[in-house]
Order: sequence, then C-alpha cells, then structure tokens
Amino acid sequence: MQLASEPSISDELRRRFSSARRVLVLTGAGVSAESGVPTFRGGGNSAVWKGMPFDVISSARMVERDLPAVWEWFDYRRGLLQELKPNPAHNEISAWQDRFSEFTLVTQNIDGLHQKARSRDVIELHGSIWRVRCVGCHSRFEILSTQPRAEACPDCGDPVRPDVVLFGEMLPAGVFEQAAAAAANCDLCFVIGTSALVYPAASLPDIARVVGAFVCEVNPEKTPLSDLCDESLMGRAGEVLPLISR
Ligand SMILES: [Zn+2]
Repeated sequence: MQLASEPSISDELRRRFSSARRVLVLTGAGVSAESGVPTFRGGGNSAVWKGMPFDVISSARMVERDLPAVWEWFDYRRGLLQELKPNPAHNEISAWQDRFSEFTLVTQNIDGLHQKARSRDVIELHGSIWRVRCVGCHSRFEILSTQPRAEACPDCGDPVRPDVVLFGEMLPAGVFEQAAAAAANCDLCFVIGTSALVYPAASLPDIARVVGAFVCEVNPEKTPLSDLCDESLMGRAGEVLPLISR
C-alpha cells in the first residue's frame, strides 16, 4: 500500500545500502515509542512520579538519598515494559545485522527491545533497565522477568541499583568509545528516532560524516541534524525502514 505521506528513498541511498560494508545504526526514544514505551520527557502528568519530576527521581542524587524510591520507580517502569513487544523498526534493524560485513547497533534506549528483536551485541549508551549494578563492587546482574530482582549484591551483599545512566551521571566507561570507534569506521550511518541533541550520542553522526560516511536520518520530525545529513526521511521508523531494504 502506497501512503501519500510515504517518504521516497533516493537512488543514492539504495545504492549505498546495497554496497555498504560497515554500517552504524544509532537509535533513540522514537523507536521505542512506536512500541508504546512512554518517554516521560514530554511534560504533563507522565513526567512526574509521586510528585517528583522525572529528572529528580531518575538522578544520581536520589540513588544516594532514597534508593528504595528509585527502585519503586524503575520497578514500575519495568512492569510497563514487560508486556511491550518489538515493533517493525526493531525487527528491520535486527534483520540488517546479517546483511553487512560489519554492523554496529548503538542505542540510547534502556528497554531491551532491540535484544527482544534478536539484535546482538547492542551498545547500550544509557545502560539497561533489565540489569542491576552493585553500588559497592560494581558487579552487574541481569534481571530475569521470571524471578524477583536482586535486592542485594550476590557477590558482596551491598545494595544494588538500576544499571542505567541517571541524570547527573557519566556514561559507563568505554561504552561511548566503542560506539565512536564504530562511527569512525563506518561507510553508512543511520540515525533513527532521535533528535540527536543529547551529547555525546549526538557526536556519532558527526564522526561518521567526518570520515565520509553517508548519513541518513529517519525521524517523524525535522531535527537539528536534518540539514547536516545526506538524507533525511521523515516518518515513523517502523514504516520507513522496510522501504529502504525493499
Ligand atoms: Zn557487590
């Protein structure tokens, strides 16, 4: 079915897509939103949890002041995510990983939906809501949906916290460097469902451009990146991505 609003894919992008060898994909909240994941950033009531603004309850300071409250918030969010399924964008990106000789998926999302869609070796810039991290020894443990999450570290007994990057925190050591190395080595770069405003993730398409990669953005709205990239496809990722490989 041909929709009136369907963006047209340039011949150049088709040619690049079929000849690319090293592909980098950066995804953001827009990809998750198509699965129904709330972003909690849009303002309104959804941006407040028990009277606390999203950036207060999700902050490094709150982990120190009131870890149980932070857990209550993250347990609630995990409960919402539990039922959600990958959407056609996740599935398409997952199908791309075996198509190119090198493929790197970098995400700003913490919901694990790329992995649910069978993407492998996902670089999670902001961590995962499906992992805990010990505040003492920094060991990480997966949260299995079939069991209650760990309350304390099985290694040392210290409290555990969500293994996600909170407001006021740095990215985990080495994670951005790994993504930047892939960006510096790619010949085709997709920026999908993110306004690419948040640094350092926003610098990945810049790095790709500098090394001469073709940079394509897929987003429902124009972003600050739109005029800088080689192709900007406006639309929902779940609808646009399948058109590229078709
Ligand atoms: Zn520990």
